[in-house]
Amino acid sequence: MTYPFGAVVGMDDMRLALLLNAVSPAIGGVLVRGEKGTAKSTTVRALAAVLPPVTVVAGCRFACDPAAPDPACPDGPHDMGVPGQTRPARLVELPVGASEDRVVGSLDLERALTEGVKAFEPGLLAAAHRGVLYVDEVNLLHDHLVDLLLDAAALGTAYVEREGVSVRHAARFLLVGTMNPEEGELRPQLLDRFGLTVEVAAPRDPAERAEVVRRRFAHDADPAGFAASWADEEAGLARRIADARARLPHVVLSDDALRQVTAVCAAFDVDGLRADLVTARAAIAHAAWCGRDEVTEDDVRVAARLALPHRRRRDPFDTPGLDDETLEQALEDSRPDDDPPPPPDGPGDGGAPPPGEAGTGSDRHGSAPETGGEPPSPGEGETDGGQGGAPASERAAVAPADPFRARRLEVPGVGAGAAGRRSKARAERGRVVGSVRPSGPVTRLHLADTVLAAAPHQVARGRTGPGLRVAREDLRQATLEGREGNLVLFVVDASGSMGSRSRMGAVKGAVLSLLLDAYQRRDKVGLVTFRGGDAELALPPTWSVEAAAARLRTLPTGGRTPLAAGLRRAAEVLRVERVRDPQRRALLVVVTDGRATGARGSDALGAAHTAARRLAGEGTAAVVVDCESGPVRLGLAGVLGSHLGAQTLRLEELAAETLAGTVRAVRAAA
Ligand SMILES: [Zn+2]
Repeated sequence: MTYPFGAVVGMDDMRLALLLNAVSPAIGGVLVRGEKGTAKSTTVRALAAVLPPVTVVAGCRFACDPAAPDPACPDGPHDMGVPGQTRPARLVELPVGASEDRVVGSLDLERALTEGVKAFEPGLLAAAHRGVLYVDEVNLLHDHLVDLLLDAAALGTAYVEREGVSVRHAARFLLVGTMNPEEGELRPQLLDRFGLTVEVAAPRDPAERAEVVRRRFAHDADPAGFAASWADEEAGLARRIADARARLPHVVLSDDALRQVTAVCAAFDVDGLRADLVTARAAIAHAAWCGRDEVTEDDVRVAARLALPHRRRRDPFDTPGLDDETLEQALEDSRPDDDPPPPPDGPGDGGAPPPGEAGTGSDRHGSAPETGGEPPSPGEGETDGGQGGAPASERAAVAPADPFRARRLEVPGVGAGAAGRRSKARAERGRVVGSVRPSGPVTRLHLADTVLAAAPHQVARGRTGPGLRVAREDLRQATLEGREGNLVLFVVDASGSMGSRSRMGAVKGAVLSLLLDAYQRRDKVGLVTFRGGDAELALPPTWSVEAAAARLRTLPTGGRTPLAAGLRRAAEVLRVERVRDPQRRALLVVVTDGRATGARGSDALGAAHTAARRLAGEGTAAVVVDCESGPVRLGLAGVLGSHLGAQTLRLEELAAETLAGTVRAVRAAA
């Protein structure tokens, strides 16, 4: 029994974004970002129950509308006026581990090649047609699949092509993704293809929190009774969606309102015209939702709040959100002169505030960003001149130097981990490197090898004319090589041996650059630091590059150099992660000058080299980043590298080979 949509407490932006898309799927879907335990999924799942039911052609697996069947329907052609049956709108969930075939459907290549039959098994896109497609943890889905979903959502069509056999069918659905940003971000290119985004958080108001708990208890004690008590509310919502859909084509977007839309988009400096289109569509849908026939300033305000925040983020370390003052200023500047300034929180349609619309006014949208870590403090690390040579002791955190584009460090060999962009791996996509006899159904045919396998049997199979006789045992599955994401575990020397503040700033800048790179390559990252008496797991392996960057910024430096402790701590972390996620290969990045100090009389360097050889013995792939500077160099990082069986790179060699990168790296290392 799903929770009633109307009974969800708070989450006003999220509910409104879902409802506007239900009214006008052309808006392009909703991305919901928020921490765990905020009822994101409950709210999405509740939506299906308030969507108007759909009438479908009986027996069609592609949910054709009897009034306008898809001419390309694989189960068609359907006659006009075939009997239809009415069923509730569907909510289809796409699991994060789904294969491409499961999503788009699969063509039976064996039957196509051996029997000449085009057999198509519909996927989740077909199931979601005229309903909702929901992806929880959309940030963990392979980029390629997200791309595919967004394409289908934008075109209203799914297309599958394998070895020259293709199928196309209608797939119009409301796409909803939810994600916890602490578990990794969605690439910006994908982020801005979702129509609307909302940030959700658990309510802070104790009374509201109490109401959440009260309703949850009531629901769990008697789900059916709870649903019944909300039935009228649900029916009202469903009616309102149906009414708004009917009204939508008649809503007028005046030139004045359009000017406000474009002025707001310009004020927030968004790329391209997608933002303007989405904002306009959302404003029109909001007008229809409120029962108006013309778009007002309030519609534009509401639409901008939902459509623009994610289109401004260009850096994963930026904080989300939209500045209310800028928005109000843009609306005011673009307001037609003769209009009296309307109150920003006007009652809108004049009726009682409908559920899901409550609180769309400006008062509750604090402009202060609430997520993210420390704000960057550029410049702090560059004004260190005088104190740079101070004796290494406890010091305040040094700000990192500007990040640069890092070169790709990779794990040698071929892995089988989750898709990403770092090391070579067997994959569902990528370049063809060979073929094997298939163990299941053929999904990627290796045509040349199949023909070669069939060739010797042609006479025995009684072939006399043209046309190859292909049997099941001839079929060869292509082996593909793509790239995987890895666990990049940083071991960073934060001790006094790392020299001046400016040098530490450069080291932090380099690690920050590698973190940015890890974000783009879909790696998990972790951070071990060592200084003073011991090593510390400053950040357990996580998807959140932001968390790692925040830790790095506030990392204090100075004191002794317990290198061995750092390496041993890293080895422990890797052992645990190998159990937790055995497919994900790890890359250890040791950022050090190779020096080690410990208690008087101890062989700190020998202990470090022993720890390094043990890591190498466990098959750990590693890279040493040599941070040594100054006129006299000991080359100890290189020695450590040889014990680790690792490549040693100088700090300035980390930048990708671009002119700008090189210049910056050289400057950073100076
Ligand atoms: Zn059909």
